[in-house]
Amino acid sequence: MLDPFGREAQELIRREFGDLLVLLEKIPGSVSLGEALSLVRWMLESKEPPEELLTVDSLDELMDLFRFYALLGALAFSPYGLEVEFVREATSKLYRARIERKRSLEESLLKVKPAEGIPERDRKILERAMDRSLPEEEREKLRLKYRIPLSEFIGLWEGSLKDVYIRGGYAYLRWNDVLKLWEMAFERRFDRAVSLLSDVRDELPEFYERLAGELEKLAGEYFKERLEKLGKVGTKPLRFELFPPCVKEALKGVPAGMRNYAITVLLTSFLSYARLCPNPPRKDVRIKDCVSDLRVVEEEILPVIIEAGNRCKPPLFEDQPHEIKNIWYHLGFGLTDKPTLEDSGNSTWYFPPNCDKIRANAPQLCKPDKHCRGIKNPLTYYLRRLAREEKSGENQGGDNGG
Ligand code: SF4
Repeated sequence: MLDPFGREAQELIRREFGDLLVLLEKIPGSVSLGEALSLVRWMLESKEPPEELLTVDSLDELMDLFRFYALLGALAFSPYGLEVEFVREATSKLYRARIERKRSLEESLLKVKPAEGIPERDRKILERAMDRSLPEEEREKLRLKYRIPLSEFIGLWEGSLKDVYIRGGYAYLRWNDVLKLWEMAFERRFDRAVSLLSDVRDELPEFYERLAGELEKLAGEYFKERLEKLGKVGTKPLRFELFPPCVKEALKGVPAGMRNYAITVLLTSFLSYARLCPNPPRKDVRIKDCVSDLRVVEEEILPVIIEAGNRCKPPLFEDQPHEIKNIWYHLGFGLTDKPTLEDSGNSTWYFPPNCDKIRANAPQLCKPDKHCRGIKNPLTYYLRRLAREEKSGENQGGDNGG
C-alpha cells in the first residue's frame, strides 16, 4: 500500500470493516506485536527503510495496513509521547520511499491530478525546455507533474506562493514539491488520527497497550541521546515562545467575561500538563504521579497563573480571591489553598480543553497561526513545536536525533 491514508486504503477499510474501530478490533487476531513493530524497528539501525519493506505483494496489502493501524492504535495510549514522533518519522519515511519508487501520488491522500491545462509557452519557460545544456536529470526535476486545488494546497504549503505556478484554481507542482506537500499532509493526518483514537482508547483491546509499551522502549532507544542531553521528557522548563496563540492571549490577561475560562480552565491545565506531564500515561493521572515535590507547581506554575490573573481587567484574584482554591481544584488537589502533595487526586486534574471547546467557550482566545493547522489541542501544538525545535537544534549540532 503506497499510502495508508490514501483513497485506495480508505476504500479497503470501508469495504472490509465499515469503520476504523472495527478494523482495530480485528487486528490483534491477525498481527503479532513483532509484526507491527517491524514497520518501524529498522529506524534503530538505518536511516532508510530496508528493501523488504519497500515492495508489498498485493496479497500482503491488508496485512501491511494492519501493521500500520496497529501502531496508530498503540499511540492512542501515548498521544503526546516521543513514541508518536518515532512512529510518525518511521512511517512517513517508509511510505515516502514507496511513493518515490512508484513515482506516483495519484492514490495518495493528496487530491492531485496530472499537470494538464498549462499553456505551452508557460510550460516551456517553467521547465526551461529551450535550455539544451540542461542534463536530463535536472530537466526531470523541473517538470511540472501534478496540479492540486488551491484550497487544499494553501492549507499545506509553508513556502512562498511566489515560487508556485498558479492557474485556474490549481497550484502546479514539481515532483519534489509535491512530495513535501504529501509529507505535510501525512503528518497532519497521522496526528489527527492519534488524537481521535486517544479519545476512544478505553474501548481498544489490551493488545494496543502492550504494543505501546514496546514502542516506548524503541522510541527511548532511538531518542537516547536527546533524552540524555535534555533530561527526562516531561520535566523540562517551559518554552513560552512556543506556546500556542490562545495560551499567549490568556497570559496577556483578558476581560471580565472570559477570566475564569482563560485563567482557571485553559492556562492552569495547559501550564501544568506542559511542565509536569506532557505525556500522561493514563487518563486519571495525578500530579503526585509526575513530581515528588510541590515546589515546581508553587514556584514555576502558580506565579505565572497569578500574574496572568492580575493582568485581567479587572484583576481576577483581587476580585475573586477564592479563585485560587479553584486553581488548586483544577490541578487535582480539591478545593483548598494550602495543599500538600498527598492531596493530589482529591479532585480531577483537568486536561487542556480541545481547540473546538476553546472556540466555543472563549472564541476571542483562538487566533490561529500557521502551526495551528490540523491541531486539535493546544498541548499538541506546544509539544509538536518543541519536538521540531529540538530536532532542528540537534541537526544543527550534527546529531541524527537517534
Ligand atoms: S487553533 Fe487551537 S491551539 Fe491554535 S489558537 Fe486556536 S485554540 Fe489555540
